[in-house]
Amino acid sequence: MRVVAKKIKYNDQVYPLRIFSFYGILIDNIGSFYLDKGEKFMWMKRLITGPLQVNTYILICEKSGLGAIIDPGGSEREILQLIQQKQAKLKYIINTHGHPDHILGNNYLKTQTNAQILIHREDAFMLEDTASELLSYFQESYVPVPADKLLQDGEDIHLGEISLKVLHTPGHTPGGICLLTASRLFSGDTLFAGGIGRTDFPGGSYQTLIASIESKLFTLEPDLQVLPGHGPSSTIGTEKSGNPFF
Ligand SMILES: [Zn+2]
Ligand SMILES: [Zn+2]
Repeated sequence: MRVVAKKIKYNDQVYPLRIFSFYGILIDNIGSFYLDKGEKFMWMKRLITGPLQVNTYILICEKSGLGAIIDPGGSEREILQLIQQKQAKLKYIINTHGHPDHILGNNYLKTQTNAQILIHREDAFMLEDTASELLSYFQESYVPVPADKLLQDGEDIHLGEISLKVLHTPGHTPGGICLLTASRLFSGDTLFAGGIGRTDFPGGSYQTLIASIESKLFTLEPDLQVLPGHGPSSTIGTEKSGNPFF
């Protein structure tokens, strides 16, 4: 397997990335050994997928054998293989928002596993909006699949022993969400390490995004691990004190 060093510019940040050219995805063990704070049955892997290098997270509850995938941006076959190797059953496909780079793998995974597609109610239309200008930038042919369940702020998604709380954090898109577990926050394109999501796409609002982060995220525990939709991980405390947008 050849490792290629590469830099990607996204959200005005330049991120160094290592690309394994064998699959075109990076699989690492970030946090999969992080089994404290009530997450003792949680197995997790991050994969970097698709043309915009989305962080795709696979979560498995090792007690129940149930799995969830957050933002399948591509490499669907490899994702499914990993889940099958763990002998888990995929229960949920969760999209932190409806941008094409985060939903490209929905159709394949849904067809293969019949997992439920979950997205916030205000972004659900994007799953079927094949005329969207954004989607036309992606080379892959996207097959629209509707959501199975619409999420709302404050609800809990149960995956065996794992519980994911939905935090509605609009601004990058109207229906953007973050997902909170006992020791981590999956922050989608709302909050990045040293950055925030773009607000120049349809439905975006800079003021709304800043307000979402200040009211819903910066009020969380400072040592909470932040796992964004692109780029490296961080913590709430690090972003609160060092993120240049605040
Ligand atoms: Zn986005
Ligand atoms: Zn994105």
